[in-house]
Amino acid sequence: MRIIKIVLVGVILLAAVLIVRTLGFAPPASDDIAPIALGEWNEQELAQGLATALTYPSISTGDIAEFDYEPFFDLQRYLKQRFPKTFAEIPYEVFEKATLLFRWQGADETRNPILLMAHQDVVPVIPGTEDEWSYPPFAGTVADGYIWGRGAIDDKAGVLGILEAVERHLQEGFVPPRTIYLAFGHDEEVGGLGARAIATALQKRNITVDFLLDEGGVIAKGMIPGVDKRVAL
Ligand SMILES: [Zn+2]
Repeated sequence: MRIIKIVLVGVILLAAVLIVRTLGFAPPASDDIAPIALGEWNEQELAQGLATALTYPSISTGDIAEFDYEPFFDLQRYLKQRFPKTFAEIPYEVFEKATLLFRWQGADETRNPILLMAHQDVVPVIPGTEDEWSYPPFAGTVADGYIWGRGAIDDKAGVLGILEAVERHLQEGFVPPRTIYLAFGHDEEVGGLGARAIATALQKRNITVDFLLDEGGVIAKGMIPGVDKRVAL
């Protein structure tokens, strides 16, 4: 009885804290978030860089016997060509045929590394829905101020975004203060043998990361019912 009472009081206290904090929470007053200054980056060229990546139909399938690795190898050939310094200067390993793990040596060996993740694969186009696409899923179209295609958000924007930043930093001679791992899986949408192999390898090497950053979502408007402001998913 006593334990039940204690648990009950705990639950009520937790609920009270949650309610008070929820009521007190307010998003920033303004919805006008200024875009990041691009400096000498060329917006059109960056858009085209991602759009080209979308032309490789790197579709993952749960049936390993059916898995077509060729589009992944083509995509990786493209990435090598677009990010020559990254592929030449940062050593990388391949797991499960098409998952990539880069290890970018940091200045301070005593600090734990961090891990940035994104995945190369996309889900298939549902048969019969081809006509519903504003632009063909694997055409890699830049139009109307957007980049169109399967994987534009999930998750080639992540792969290309990370690699664009790393390539630029290498060009500028940047050495990260701590080691940075980059992990690009090839089968995230179907269970992630690649991610599992990386996790096992890092564990065997006794590597602990201080944090990892994986795909989140987009900053979307009108995707959450009842919320009309922009929300980072
Ligand atoms: Zn994803």
